[in-house]
Amino acid sequence: MPTLERNDKSDPDNTDRAADIVIAGAGIVGLSAALALAQKNFKVTIVEALGKNKFQVNKQLEDNTRDIRAIALSASNWRQLARYLTQKSSEQLALQLYNMSSPIWDMRIVEAHPLRGVESRKLHLSHKDLYCRLGHKNSTKHETVTPLGYIVEGQDLLQILYRGASTHENINIEHETKLQNFNAAHNYIEVLLAHKNQTQKKSIRAKLLLACDGKNSSLREQANIACRKKDYKESALVCALAHERAHSGTAVEWFTPLGTFASLPMLNQQSGIVWCDKHHNILELIELEESEFIKHAQTRFGRWLGKISLASKRVAYPVSLSHAHSYVAQRLALLGDAAHAIHPLAGQGLNLGLRDVVTLVKQITEAEYLGEDFASSQVLKRYEKIRRRDANSLIFVTDSLHKIFTNDSTILREIRLSALTLIDKIPLARRAIVRAAAESS
Ligand SMILES: Cc1cc2nc3c(=O)[nH]c(=O)nc-3n(C[C@H](O)[C@H](O)[C@H](O)COP(=O)(O)OP(=O)(O)OC[C@H]3O[C@@H](n4cnc5c(N)ncnc54)[C@H](O)[C@@H]3O)c2cc1C
Repeated sequence: MPTLERNDKSDPDNTDRAADIVIAGAGIVGLSAALALAQKNFKVTIVEALGKNKFQVNKQLEDNTRDIRAIALSASNWRQLARYLTQKSSEQLALQLYNMSSPIWDMRIVEAHPLRGVESRKLHLSHKDLYCRLGHKNSTKHETVTPLGYIVEGQDLLQILYRGASTHENINIEHETKLQNFNAAHNYIEVLLAHKNQTQKKSIRAKLLLACDGKNSSLREQANIACRKKDYKESALVCALAHERAHSGTAVEWFTPLGTFASLPMLNQQSGIVWCDKHHNILELIELEESEFIKHAQTRFGRWLGKISLASKRVAYPVSLSHAHSYVAQRLALLGDAAHAIHPLAGQGLNLGLRDVVTLVKQITEAEYLGEDFASSQVLKRYEKIRRRDANSLIFVTDSLHKIFTNDSTILREIRLSALTLIDKIPLARRAIVRAAAESS
């Protein structure tokens, strides 16, 4: 299918519209959707509850609002973001994305029991598995220089997408403004905006409203869309650790009965940590003196990168699952965490949201090209059908991994060990896993 671009034609139904599409939420998903749509010539208004400083946080000042999460992006999602950032003929922002990203060349999955000091079994996945042929495991002929994915700091990603969106002629951003209410009609949707410092509310009309307002989406609630919810009763501690030796682009995930511990290769000889455990354990870890915290972290992290030290503040995120029963309503589509939020153990939540963006933009652009109403229920249902399959399987995988790996039963442990050993020995199985991680899109 050729790349479709929308004709910048005037509106046939003559409604007084400020935008073709309104997006609630300037998170990573909302900004990506805006850039993707703007590239196709749709006029977009983004409504964001927070002020401009959400996007102008100073790294040196260790601002409390800075998102220090090390976000793992699949190689294909990362390439897609680079395309969104390539505006007109300027590749400057895409280049900046490249400079702030750290490639993942290898992944190690470790079954461990930190209290018993046991590092029992490993599964090693490499970028070389992407193209290795059965029986040619060690052949260099089919090796590739494509990494499995990239790590980008959450705040850096948010800021660069914002820079792209705020300078795009087809995008208007309403800061410090909540999307308070909406009403869908046959031909349009009317949204009510409440600015933080203004008593008078503003209403605008558009063809379509995208709810990119996160896990606790108020738009989802207003549309009366029910949601499956599961509280893992865990938090994720996030921080950056500096280490003596180079990580060489290796990401490691330790599965333990206490919770998962991931180290993600970042720039400047640092690794981003995502440490999941019961709320009270994480709270204790956050309150520990730095030197005590490092001692605890070293028991999880091991000595493979030498001595470690804390390179950022420590932040805790509650961990839960939520999955909307429907992703669409009349002239409304849910994307990203508003549709599905998952356990961070596989680093896939945002990847799922970015694939929502790709599918939605493809569906509505094709509809527009064919002269259909791009926000009709048929078009939105097509989007939902495609995306639900992907989300269902990832929810099943992450939830099952959590159940299986955080259980201390001896039988389950034996099954885990056998499974890891088996996968490690079968090139085809390893290749299937790395392909899914790198190329899903
Ligand atoms: C510890 C942790 C680690 C993770 N690591 C990874 C990883 O490595 N890889 C990965 O793929 N995913 C990861 N994730 C998941 C990822 O962070 C989320 O999926 C992603 O950030 C969701 O983005 P979003 O834009 O959908 O929502 P959000 O980031 O929540 O953005 C929502 C935005 O909407 C705004 N808003 C809300 N309500 C309104 C309203 N009524 N009007 C206007 N604005 C509104 C908010 O202010 C906010 O800016 C991780 C998650 C956690 C918790």
